[in-house]
Amino acid sequence: MNEQYKKERKTFSFDRTISSNIIHSEPDRYKLLENISFKSSNIINIGSNLSYSPLSFSSNSVSINIKKFNRILEFDNTEKLITVEAGLTLIELLNFTLRYKLWIPQIPGYPSITVGGAIAANSHGKSCAIHGTIRNSIKSILLFHKKHGWMKLSENENKEIFDLTIGGIGLTGTIVSVTFKLLKIKSKKFITKKIAVNTVEECKNKILQESKNSTFIYSWNRADNLKNFGRGIVYNNYMDESSDDFEQFEVCKNNFKPFFIPLWNKYSISFTNFIYLKLNNLTMPEKKEDFLSVIFPFYKKENYFNFFGKKGFIESQLLIHESKFDSFMLEFKNLFKKYEPTITLFSLKNMSGQQKLLRFEDNKICITFDYVNNSKNQLFMSKIDSLYEKYEILPSIIKDSRLTKDIFNKSYKNSSVFIKKLRDFDKERIYQSEISRRLEI
Ligand SMILES: Cc1cc2nc3c(=O)[nH]c(=O)nc-3n(C[C@H](O)[C@H](O)[C@H](O)COP(=O)(O)OP(=O)(O)OC[C@H]3O[C@@H](n4cnc5c(N)ncnc54)[C@H](O)[C@@H]3O)c2cc1C
Repeated sequence: MNEQYKKERKTFSFDRTISSNIIHSEPDRYKLLENISFKSSNIINIGSNLSYSPLSFSSNSVSINIKKFNRILEFDNTEKLITVEAGLTLIELLNFTLRYKLWIPQIPGYPSITVGGAIAANSHGKSCAIHGTIRNSIKSILLFHKKHGWMKLSENENKEIFDLTIGGIGLTGTIVSVTFKLLKIKSKKFITKKIAVNTVEECKNKILQESKNSTFIYSWNRADNLKNFGRGIVYNNYMDESSDDFEQFEVCKNNFKPFFIPLWNKYSISFTNFIYLKLNNLTMPEKKEDFLSVIFPFYKKENYFNFFGKKGFIESQLLIHESKFDSFMLEFKNLFKKYEPTITLFSLKNMSGQQKLLRFEDNKICITFDYVNNSKNQLFMSKIDSLYEKYEILPSIIKDSRLTKDIFNKSYKNSSVFIKKLRDFDKERIYQSEISRRLEI
């Protein structure tokens, strides 16, 4: 391998719970991508490494980063089609398409996520109740695979590999470029309506009801103590059609630098939760917001993650059917009483789609919890894990670094189909990450 394109570096998962010394390689020409792939026994693709779990590295694989492949290759305004290289970041993609009042609505919540990373994770945005996941915006993909070479993937060409690649966590090869079907966007400004809720059940009902008429519905809820559990706000963002501002955004850099001393603890969480809710209740029930703060809620608020310090945090994102939600929450609260976990974030949204293969997608409610990374919380989380089968809950592979093979097998009923098809396609199982090894995918 050309040494100039190869660097050893210690790499952490975004949640910082797993790290490895890895070989990192950054080709800047297609020929080099081919050479590096041919000369490496095991490979994994890496985008901006913003997956919470270690999906884009492994101590035994060369991580190939194609961030230098970030060109816009073709754009057809009439047909609303765009072809871009997969190293392009979401903010770069939006900076181009928004000029034409077009976008893809399935935008995950941070601007420097790459197009390739978003496709491999089958990412979703805040409007996932209506727009589902990024799968719905993909027309075709150009893939490079060490053994199969260059492959065009779409509904009509290599459909099986097309299906495996979207949400395939980088295991089918390198996504080099993609053609998206774009949608019209009415405005780049939003009006945010806030609705106060007192319990998690009330919150769920509000979200289900509001999702019928509105596009961007999600909640922020307290989970810092049992008394206030679920108290919070349902946010409803809708586009401000009176605004004609389609200005460019600055191209953002990642601002994640964990503090030396962790600042999130039981007291700081309760204090900030109390203040946050008070301020929200005191301010106007409607406010104007710009595109970046609605679509990328953590942008310029990276300190939320930095406050966890070097030990990091654990996120658990779960899909559950609305009919099972209340009983699950009752059991959750009973366990909460016993184990007193330290939860920094609790949020709900509604999702639409069909669960297949490894995809985190279904017609279900999406619950998100962030926990401080400590043994007490891990014990609590393991008790929650044991409820997944009973409530037919699907945990996210992209978010939860702790996921075990046993839990994965029980909750991803379709995973054996993915594993079989992947092994038929790639008998040597060349593309491997820490997670794919642990889950034996
Ligand atoms: C603050 C924050 C907010 C987020 N919000 C959301 C959200 O709202 N919704 C959501 O769904 N997700 C969300 N995510 C998760 C994020 O969308 C995914 O983890 C995404 O995969 C990250 O992209 P990346 O470019 O960092 O890729 P990486 O994390 O580097 O890689 C992710 C996966 O993609 C594969 N991959 C990367 N590039 C390629 C390529 N060119 N070809 C083939 N495979 C490739 C990797 O092998 C790996 O399996 C969020 C993450 C953060 C940090």
